[in-house]
Amino acid sequence: MHSAIPRLSGNQLALAYLLAAAVPLTLALTQSVARGHAWEYAAAALGLVALAGMAVQFVTSGRFEAVSGKLGIDKIMSFHKIAAWWLLLGVLAHPLLYVVPTWTADPDLAWMRLEFYLSDPAYRSGVVALGAMLLLVISSALRERLPLPYEAWRATHVVLALVSVGGGLHHALAVGRFSIDGPVAMFWWLLGAGVVAVMVTLYGWRWWHLHRHPWRLAAVEKRADRMWELDIQPQPGTPPMPYHAGQFVWMTDRGRRFPLMDHPFSIADSPERPGLSLLIKEAGDYTNQIGALPEGCTIGIDGPYGEFTLEAHDPAAVLLIGGGVGIAPILGILRDMAARGDRRPVRLVYAAGHPENLANLEEIRQIAASGALNLKLWLLTEDPPTAPDMHQGILSPERLREVLQGLDPKTTKAMMCGPGPMVVAVSDALLDLGMPMANVVYERFDYSGSMRSRQDRARTRAFVSVGAALGVLVAGFAFLAG
Ligand SMILES: Cc1cc2nc3c(=O)[nH]c(=O)nc-3n(C[C@H](O)[C@H](O)[C@H](O)COP(=O)(O)OP(=O)(O)OC[C@H]3O[C@@H](n4cnc5c(N)ncnc54)[C@H](O)[C@@H]3O)c2cc1C
Repeated sequence: MHSAIPRLSGNQLALAYLLAAAVPLTLALTQSVARGHAWEYAAAALGLVALAGMAVQFVTSGRFEAVSGKLGIDKIMSFHKIAAWWLLLGVLAHPLLYVVPTWTADPDLAWMRLEFYLSDPAYRSGVVALGAMLLLVISSALRERLPLPYEAWRATHVVLALVSVGGGLHHALAVGRFSIDGPVAMFWWLLGAGVVAVMVTLYGWRWWHLHRHPWRLAAVEKRADRMWELDIQPQPGTPPMPYHAGQFVWMTDRGRRFPLMDHPFSIADSPERPGLSLLIKEAGDYTNQIGALPEGCTIGIDGPYGEFTLEAHDPAAVLLIGGGVGIAPILGILRDMAARGDRRPVRLVYAAGHPENLANLEEIRQIAASGALNLKLWLLTEDPPTAPDMHQGILSPERLREVLQGLDPKTTKAMMCGPGPMVVAVSDALLDLGMPMANVVYERFDYSGSMRSRQDRARTRAFVSVGAALGVLVAGFAFLAG
């Protein structure tokens, strides 16, 4: 029933990343080229590694299940962002390292060489690649401050990425010391073909799929303040989409059914029910109009994605935590447990700022009261509660201890989705209460957040060690080639 695509673990991905960087270096070692200085070999190695890394960025963009399915889209995007800085540094240092030996002997001559690299037509494609890379990384770092709609930024991002990798490939094949011909040139052609295949898959095949297998908006209903539930059903001829509760899809509608225009939304539904339900909060240009979508309109669905599911984690007991619209995948898991009569112990904490922001409250209360599940429910609001079963306050460590009473933190898994600050605080508090890090599973809707939990920091350290390994590869190449 679930997609058969194998999903790579974090370690497997790190290995694949280092392999992609190591292949051009290894092939380059087989080339016989005019002898140079160790700095020049290091410069060449930086160019080779950065170019391979730029191509790999196309598959760490969160759209390939094999790559992001296991780790989660927010984590793979955080790697994508960190790796972009290494690549930019590599690309900037690439021409500079070439002139280091000249610099030590004659700084004026070094400047002239640098000017030559930047102005000579033979190197122009490399300069264009460097400029595009610089714009790409800076425009992404400043995205939230740019006066650009998300879709426009995304389109610019794709174009700049193509220009930088295309320029880089042309530069390598035209003037690269190790890349003009032989096995390294062959590698670049294959890599270029790989990038084209990724683009065809992302924007050709997926576009075709959205049009070939359309869905229909069966109903749209208001569930809470600025929150809407969409019932989406396959149109005749569209096969049902097998999925697990808690996964997410990319959605488009009507004439906007093009992959660049899609938005990710969690499935707030059980696979036991035909079709899909999405719970969507007004958060910007697209979602502000969601409640006005006409019933019956065509919807494009691409999915399912992600592993925020009970099936992937299979806990003995489960603590479900939803904050704000983060209740969407949690509601999907809850509905599915209820539909299947799952008897595992389950604790549900649903927190929101104001009581009127709690969506699908009656349904959740009914599930809790029906006895169909072994469920205990906590409703939390920061503002004064409007019902006796609500508590005022945040999900503090004390409250978490109370919620976990009777459960073994070692065999219970927490599955949490909510705003960044809540995820960070609760994740750290659960570790303090003795829950192993592997048992704290969370998904964030916004991968631009700067707050980091201990789990995030541990992951960042793992990412940085991949960057350090790239540095070792570059230094090793300079040593071996020299
Ligand atoms: C895995 C995942 C699951 C999600 N599930 C839900 C859900 O069930 N319900 C819900 O209400 N929201 C969900 N979101 C958030 C939702 O995708 C954004 O709120 C929505 O895309 C905002 O679009 P907008 O045009 O209305 O707002 P904008 O003003 O364009 O964007 C607001 C912010 O949303 C993010 N965003 C916008 N467009 C995209 C995009 N195409 N891809 C990724 N991020 C984007 C950006 O960080 C942006 O700054 C989910 C996000 C992710 C990553």
